[in-house]
Amino acid sequence: MSADASVLQVALPVPLPRLFDYRAPAGMTAAPDLVGCRVRVPFGPRELVGVVAGVGTAAGDTPALREALACLDDAPLLHGELFDSLRWLARYTHAPLGEVLATALPAALRRGEPLPDTHAWAWRLTEAGATALPGLRGGSRPRRLAELLHEAARDEDALAGLMDDWRGAARSLAKRELVERIAIPASRLAPTPQPGPEPNAEQAAAIETIHAVDGFAALLLDGVTGSGKTEVYLQAIADCLARGRQALVLVPEIGLTPQLLSRFRARLGVPVHATHSGLNDGERARTWAAALRGEARVVVGTRSAVFTPLPEAGLIVIDEEHDGSYKQQDGIRYHARDFALVRGKALGVPVLLGSATPSLESLHNARANRYAHLRLTRRAGDAKPPRVRVLDVRKRPLDAGLSNDLLDAAGKALDAGGQVLVFKNRRGYAPVLLCHDCGWSAQCKRCDAPMTVHAGGRRLQCHHCGARQSVPLACPDCASLALQPQGIGTERIEELLAKRFDGMPVLRIDRGSTRRQGALEKHFESLGTNAGVLVGTQMLAKGHDLPNLTLVCVVGIDEGLFSADFRAGEKLAQLLVQVSGRAGRADKPGEVLLQTHHPDHPLLQTLVHGGYHAFADGELMQREAAGFPPFAHLALLRAEAKHVDAPMQFLRAAKELLLPFAATGSKQEAAAGLELHGPLPAPMPRRAGMHRAQLLVSAVQRRELHAALDAVVPALHALPEARKVRWSLDVDPVDL
Ligand code: ADP
Ligand code: ZN
Ligand code: ZN
Repeated sequence: MSADASVLQVALPVPLPRLFDYRAPAGMTAAPDLVGCRVRVPFGPRELVGVVAGVGTAAGDTPALREALACLDDAPLLHGELFDSLRWLARYTHAPLGEVLATALPAALRRGEPLPDTHAWAWRLTEAGATALPGLRGGSRPRRLAELLHEAARDEDALAGLMDDWRGAARSLAKRELVERIAIPASRLAPTPQPGPEPNAEQAAAIETIHAVDGFAALLLDGVTGSGKTEVYLQAIADCLARGRQALVLVPEIGLTPQLLSRFRARLGVPVHATHSGLNDGERARTWAAALRGEARVVVGTRSAVFTPLPEAGLIVIDEEHDGSYKQQDGIRYHARDFALVRGKALGVPVLLGSATPSLESLHNARANRYAHLRLTRRAGDAKPPRVRVLDVRKRPLDAGLSNDLLDAAGKALDAGGQVLVFKNRRGYAPVLLCHDCGWSAQCKRCDAPMTVHAGGRRLQCHHCGARQSVPLACPDCASLALQPQGIGTERIEELLAKRFDGMPVLRIDRGSTRRQGALEKHFESLGTNAGVLVGTQMLAKGHDLPNLTLVCVVGIDEGLFSADFRAGEKLAQLLVQVSGRAGRADKPGEVLLQTHHPDHPLLQTLVHGGYHAFADGELMQREAAGFPPFAHLALLRAEAKHVDAPMQFLRAAKELLLPFAATGSKQEAAAGLELHGPLPAPMPRRAGMHRAQLLVSAVQRRELHAALDAVVPALHALPEARKVRWSLDVDPVDL
């Protein structure tokens, strides 16, 4: 091979900010048609799968370059808009393209497995089945299924939406050869949508605005809980399908319930592909491939679904756009909502952001007329908004943190046959184990945090690193036996309520009780619409619909009122409004009790009397005055190491590199240039045995922040101090 021959520039999943040159695999030439294909390449002693990002001329001596081992795709896997948007994401997060691509691709494809086969399965009645139909026992499941299939062949998703346990019926009919299963390309299915309710005036206006969009637009659908936002999504998606386009719907982790999927399936009448972390790698790769081939017309998924290929895109919906689960907190720290907006712009399609409690970022954009602002101010149908009462518990006796007023109200709601939700954002039995005699408390050995008491006081667990141990019999410091759980967690509330409301079902919903996939749904199903109590953490703030929920009690919010994190107020307000919104969804009026020692706190007062928007107005003014997002742009450089000094040493060196870009001199100039805060120890300075520190960078102009990072990040990789730490850069961090 001659010295000026073309080479493949390959993006590899390694933490180095560059592409890697390889010669084309034997028998192939490094031509542009390979861009976007996966290749298997040697890398040191290993083999890696990467993506060809370009072809170019080798800088040095080509024969010295290694040869790619194989090209894994006949046609580019990544091209057009998706590849361009991912390149943008790599630039925006200042991360290596190879790592961004590895994050975006489903795991099976990342490992080099072939693009999977995609077809849907459908069932149809055989000739024998059509003949036998009248003879099947009336009202039986097989009869019902045969009737459904007599109307039309139906795919499995549609059947699941129409009939419980259709599989059992299908099996028994198939045994007699009355029905058969057939493979079909998913896109071939004709929609048979079920009609929805007639939109009310506000919904109709929103639907019309979305319908009228030509090309890209961001629309904020700002509607109280139960105002019919999902109905608006469904109409907009139906419209998108009718124009022959694909729709992508992002939902928060906890929002993707079987209930939601069956509502979508029934109403849209086309297969709805779901993608989320509960699926295995094969299933996720199939959805991705079906979308790439244009077979998947509606994809509903959690955060990483934002990487779904959309060759025929028509609409992107982001439900609960304020939700924290859209931000990836490790690896490539992308924000799915923000990336969806970038894709929507590149694709030229509308992006619909829905929430009852929009993020301050989105509200700010709506006010600046960058987003269309669609309001749904009333609950749909006849549902009434819940009545909210602040319960002042100063000087009141508390049992497991619950006041008598609260327990009485719960008792009344249960007597009336309703369901009661008790919300407490701390799982476990008690957050601290304390020695009453000497003040010792059980601390995690690997984290700067106390261990949480679990299992009714028998076990200790660290919520930060997962460490577990049994509760010591005596105090390790003074040998006293007076060890007492301090504070209240969900387990302790569950214990009290089960005792107090003997005979009532009491379900605890938190990460401890619902670790397994589907456990949450099973819990809810076991309760049905019977009277009972739900105790839990923010997992209860959304998800499964609870039409018989009449009372919501919120306890233990006081610490959130005084947090140092500038976003704490926003998060607390969103949580309170979301949890409250769960009460009285159907025709039953609901009530919300907020139990607090600070009844006059401005946040509570504003929320209760003015609502979320009044709160958001005040909060935005404070953010502007303080120079916080959305009025400034942040990046957080984090470092951690076993060695106590290494993180600070690295961050000090990083700060040196950033200093030339820092604001200096007069206030006038301060608007131009970066502000550097730190380096400082992280809010939890030690976690899982690692010492942690951080350097916060802020800028009024996003452009300036990125210009500085563009210049400095390659140098960070080269710092000698970088080799002694694990470091990461988080652009637009949400947790500081
Ligand atoms: P959101 O997504 O805003 O919480 P949903 O779309 O789930 O609200 O609607 C809440 C309830 O109101 C659902 O049971 C839905 O079927 C019903 N609903 C929505 N729109 C209407 C309407 N225009 N007329 C009657 N009922 C409606
Ligand atoms: Zn002691
Ligand atoms: Zn720990």
